[in-house]
Amino acid sequence: MENSLYNKTVICPVCVKKIEVTKVKSKSCVIEKRDTDFCVYYETVNPLIYDVWVCEFCGYAAQGDKFENISSSDANKIIKSITPYWKKRSFSGERTIEKGLEAFKLALYNLQKIKSKPSDYAKICIRIAWIFRILKDEKEKEFISYALKYYYEVYDKEDLPIGKFDKYTCMYMIAELNRRIGNYDESIVWFNRLITSNEARSNKVLMESAREQYHIAKEQKQS
Ligand SMILES: [Zn+2]
Repeated sequence: MENSLYNKTVICPVCVKKIEVTKVKSKSCVIEKRDTDFCVYYETVNPLIYDVWVCEFCGYAAQGDKFENISSSDANKIIKSITPYWKKRSFSGERTIEKGLEAFKLALYNLQKIKSKPSDYAKICIRIAWIFRILKDEKEKEFISYALKYYYEVYDKEDLPIGKFDKYTCMYMIAELNRRIGNYDESIVWFNRLITSNEARSNKVLMESAREQYHIAKEQKQS
């Protein structure tokens, strides 16, 4: 295995078997650049590819930071609706981008079977879109549209902030993702709402990006 990777043993909270998950050493992650929707490119190994852990025995899949926090009722739903159809295969060790994508699709499939919030879906869908972008695959737009639909629901229904994800970052994502799929009018409305908000001003980095992207959306609309 590449020496930027290491394995960790965890107990799957669904089937209670021991599994090996592969993680990326944080000192091995050298950032090359960031896109305006926070997709990060690395000079080295991309930790996004290893973000989802998959249990080879029962088919349970979730982002590593959430993997162990599953309720017993959700675990039962996975045992009933995923495990009987699961073809046993391992996701530990080095992954190709395609293997990382497959892990994310499994995480999305798991979300559909359990009690999930729009923010859970948004997080997975935007990451699938980023992986398609890295692969230069047209499906990127399809997953940006899914992510966008969930960001609207997060904005309307969920209590923000969720961790570092606050109301203004959510507004920014709605504006920027609309711009990326060519909905310039809607993008301009949301960027404008964000830029003119007094409370959002404390987040200088976000406001600076919002202003830049607002002008780009306006130019794109006219061309
Ligand atoms: Zn399991």
